[in-house]
Amino acid sequence: MSDLRELYQEVILDHHKRPRNFHKLEDANRHAEGFNPLCGDKIQLYLRVEDGIVRDAGFEGSGCAISTASASLMTEMLKGKTEAESEALFEKFHDLVTGKSMPDSASLGKLAVFSGVREYPVRVKCAVLAWHTLRAALQGSLERVATE
Ligand code: ZN
Repeated sequence: MSDLRELYQEVILDHHKRPRNFHKLEDANRHAEGFNPLCGDKIQLYLRVEDGIVRDAGFEGSGCAISTASASLMTEMLKGKTEAESEALFEKFHDLVTGKSMPDSASLGKLAVFSGVREYPVRVKCAVLAWHTLRAALQGSLERVATE
C-alpha cells in the first residue's frame, strides 16, 4: 500500500505541475463546465467527438492538485475511446474513489493511484469533478455541473 501511496503523490504532483491537454479545443463539438464549491475547483472541458469516438480532449480551469491531476489523466485516457467506453470509465473511476468497489486496476491504468483519495472524503469531490463534467459533455448538457 505504501508503494501506491508514493505513486499517488508522484503522479498527482507530476500532473498538477505539468497538466496534459491543458488548453481549449478550438474544434470541440462538446463542452461542459464543472464547479466544486467545497474546494473552489473549476473546469472547462472540451471534447471533439466524431463517429462516436473521442478524438481529442482538452481542459482549462483552476483548482487544487487533485482536481487538476484528475482532469489531466482523464483527458489522456479518453482519446480514442468510444462514448460508451468513456461512460464506463466514469463508472469505474467513481467506484474506485468512493470505495464502492475496487475495479481491476489494469483497466484503469494510472487512474488506479486515485484509490488513495478514499482516505480523504473531502478530496473525493475534487477527484470526480472532471468526470462529472465529462458525463455532462457526453450527454450534451449545457448546464453547469456542481458536485454539491
Ligand atoms: Zn479540490
